[in-house]
Amino acid sequence: MRKDFNPALKTAMQHALHYLENVDERSVGPTASLETLRQRLCKDWNDDPMAAESVINDLAKDIEGGLNNSVSARFFAWVMGGSLPSALAADWLTSTWDQNAGLYSVSPASAIIEEAAGPWLKDLFRLPPSSSFALVTGCQMAHTTCLAAARTWLLKQQGWDVERQGMSGAPRIRVFCGARHATIDRALHLLGFGDESLTSLPVDARGALDPGALESALHKLDDQPAIVLLQAGDVNTGSFDNFEALIPIARRYGAWTHVDGAFGMWAAASPRFEHLARGLERAHSWATDGHKWLNVPYDCGYAFVAEGEAHRASMSSQASYLTQEGLARDPMDWNPEFSRRARGFATYAALRELGRSGVRELVERCCDCAAQLVAGLGELEGVKVLRSPIINQGLVTFPDPSGALSNEWTDKVIAEIAADGTAFFSGTTLNGQRAMRISVCNWQTSGEDVTKTIAGVERVLTRMREGLRLETR
Ligand SMILES: *Cc1c(COP(=O)(O)O)cnc(C)c1O
Repeated sequence: MRKDFNPALKTAMQHALHYLENVDERSVGPTASLETLRQRLCKDWNDDPMAAESVINDLAKDIEGGLNNSVSARFFAWVMGGSLPSALAADWLTSTWDQNAGLYSVSPASAIIEEAAGPWLKDLFRLPPSSSFALVTGCQMAHTTCLAAARTWLLKQQGWDVERQGMSGAPRIRVFCGARHATIDRALHLLGFGDESLTSLPVDARGALDPGALESALHKLDDQPAIVLLQAGDVNTGSFDNFEALIPIARRYGAWTHVDGAFGMWAAASPRFEHLARGLERAHSWATDGHKWLNVPYDCGYAFVAEGEAHRASMSSQASYLTQEGLARDPMDWNPEFSRRARGFATYAALRELGRSGVRELVERCCDCAAQLVAGLGELEGVKVLRSPIINQGLVTFPDPSGALSNEWTDKVIAEIAADGTAFFSGTTLNGQRAMRISVCNWQTSGEDVTKTIAGVERVLTRMREGLRLETR
């Protein structure tokens, strides 16, 4: 029996520190090819056992160049944060303690840490203190959790018990949205809503749902149950729906309103941006992420539900061998998972490390950096700003050297910036036009990173233009 954890853990610690301390020297994007990674990792499975530390050493060596350096301060792709030191350390301990956080009786501290962190989060987002909550794997599962509660609540009003009777033959629920994230569709599919249940309504130039359009869509429904999907922070434009106008309309028609606030809800932590979230507290449910702007390691999302009873009814599970004493909050009653990681520890650690003022500072610094980055890029030859940041997201595109907007050239520039390695961005499509998305949500990003990034992009653009001139000569 091997009881010595020392060699493997010390080896892992050395690799971890080496990785984190050299973050600035490494290319931000991956450098290893597909063939290389397959060749290194897809080995014949060994018959004989290996020393744990050799497994870890091999692992660290074999993945080299195959990681997206998303903990870097100059990683601006998708919407990904890094990890705060305390959150990472708490996450290590979470694995060490290896708790099953389903029930209070199975892991008391794992349950109570959620009782502590839940109210802090509700306070941060200014949500009703009476809302129920769940710590889930990500925003998609937060959507799924919230919309399961919506389904239960809406159908109950129609005299239909969905937990007992299922979805087949149930009264039809209509779903309305403006712009939406792809995870919404997946959550709906998992819950038995087909694409035909979903109606996209017109949005304004900023991407926000038009209140007049919502009103007329709900008016036509004739008391049919409905869900209205709203956004705090569109993934492309960062735009916010007008909650103060939209939620009262939805409520008047008895519709359930759900807010996708994966990253945007964090704006509520800053007095400079809280006006964007105004009125959001009147929604029925909210979904957000910890692994984005709070900078806790993957996987961590949060679901909040104003109708706690419906939330619990949609998730609760009773089995004879489980002891639910009712003394404390059992996460299983609120979560889609059965056995689950004790993900409250990392959230709790991050919230304490930052404190209330630290979350505010983090949000504001990221927004400032995003604004500087987009403005600075916009001044370069060959860059056109499509969307200046409302909070921490912006969009630019790259007209080709003749000045024409070109999807092909834009994708080429994004790829060249990634290959250059100074910074890393991802592409997106807005109204048919390819664009580069700038998303700033890393706790380490500073003005210096912004300056370095702009210089890096300028270098790439100059090189590409010169290359083209040589080619055409
Ligand atoms: C990232 C994101 C999601 C999905 O979150 P996951 O944590 O990846 O499941 C949903 N909505 C928006 C707006 C996002 O940015």
